[in-house]
Amino acid sequence: VLDAPAVLQVRHLSKSFAGLKAVNDISFDLHQGEVISIIGPNGSGKSTAINLISGFLAPDSGLIDIESQSVAGLSVPDIAECGLSRTFQNGRVFAGLTVDENVGLGFHKRLNAQRPFKGLQRYPVIRWLSLLAETALALIPGPKTRAENRDVTERVGREIDRFRERLGSRRNDYAYTLSYANRRRTEIARAHISEPALLLLDEPTAGMNQSETAEVLRQLQHLKAQGHTMLLVEHKIELVTALSDHVIAMDGGRIIAFGEPDEVRHSPQVVEAYLGK
Ligand code: ADP
Ligand code: MG
Repeated sequence: VLDAPAVLQVRHLSKSFAGLKAVNDISFDLHQGEVISIIGPNGSGKSTAINLISGFLAPDSGLIDIESQSVAGLSVPDIAECGLSRTFQNGRVFAGLTVDENVGLGFHKRLNAQRPFKGLQRYPVIRWLSLLAETALALIPGPKTRAENRDVTERVGREIDRFRERLGSRRNDYAYTLSYANRRRTEIARAHISEPALLLLDEPTAGMNQSETAEVLRQLQHLKAQGHTMLLVEHKIELVTALSDHVIAMDGGRIIAFGEPDEVRHSPQVVEAYLGK
């Protein structure tokens, strides 16, 4: 994996909030087909790092390259176009759309270069409205889009098939009727369907029970076996160990350890960081 080209390069990345260094000079590479997990106590800067890489926050300093394109400070849609997809710590889906429509949204992200509200994209609400508008436009049947819609429906069907154990029977149900775990499955399917060069997952199994966690682990192992490149924030150490090629441990905004899962989890710095909280 280390011989593969770098999909993500992060150099000296920093972000402060009112003087608090949430992310403090972090650097790492993520190679094609590699899975890296970021661990660390609450408040250590994991979500901030993910938000910087995906464009939800602008860095104070540092470089971020995705497939050799510099993306630091670009907007969320522009970074998405460079091949990044992500999920969120608390599982965001569009409550008023069905499972199919939510997953289809991820596919339209690829199909639709057209971006209404361009220029206003720096406001998060507008970004989401714009995504929603794109979907709405794409879902309106018309002579030009009917064939495309059929393709999308078929592709969405195949995507949801992987989650058939739980999600297959819910395709036409509105997302607000779904269980928490099914919302998170929908979110992972939506992120994956665009075949991103880089998939960021912020605590994909947060709030899930043991069997749900095991099922998501199987899904992610499947994605890894297909060669997907993933950056994961995760607390559950068994999942981290089972899935990751390398682990980054953060504390106080800094990287305090990097290496193979067992090496990192037993390193004195990491043990101390967790005990100290
Ligand atoms: P983690 O995901 O590792 O739990 P975060 O990246 O969410 O940690 O937070 C790192 C630090 O930055 C914390 O001290 C947190 O309170 C602070 N922080 C995060 N986001 C913001 C924000 N938008 N405004 C102010 N402080 C923030
Ligand atoms: Mg977090």
